[in-house]
Amino acid sequence: MSSIFSKIVVGEIPCYKIAEDDNYLAFLDINPLAKGHTLVIPKKEVDYIFDVDDQLLGGMMIFSKRVALAIEKAVPCKRIGIAVLGLEVPHAHIHLIPLNNLGDINFSNPKLKFSSQEFIEIARLINSKL
Ligand code: AMP
Repeated sequence: MSSIFSKIVVGEIPCYKIAEDDNYLAFLDINPLAKGHTLVIPKKEVDYIFDVDDQLLGGMMIFSKRVALAIEKAVPCKRIGIAVLGLEVPHAHIHLIPLNNLGDINFSNPKLKFSSQEFIEIARLINSKL
């Protein structure tokens, strides 16, 4: 059975897309810890990030860097933090999270709520900074 993120890759499930190339996709986390919280995935479905082959994993970090720098320009913050959990969705992904304080990357925090229109606007703003 394909992961929910594979369904996003093929367009079966919608997402608030930030960036895409042949191998990777970046989109807004639907339950964000911060405005601009973004996920970067390889299009190839691999559950555990440390099972992703070296070349794809290296490229994923370079793709994430480009996206992170765009988030930083779009959302006021001190820097972009990265985290890998994978406890919920079995498809490798990197969380990119705007940070001002240590607590901003605490996954036990209540998640923020945005309207669909707000998600669209955030994604558009980040995309414009790529
Ligand atoms: P984890 O696997 O523990 O890294 O958590 C998975 C993350 O994916 C969570 O932060 C969810 O909010 C996020 N997520 C789950 N489904 C979707 C979706 N359809 N679109 C965007 N983000 C999602």
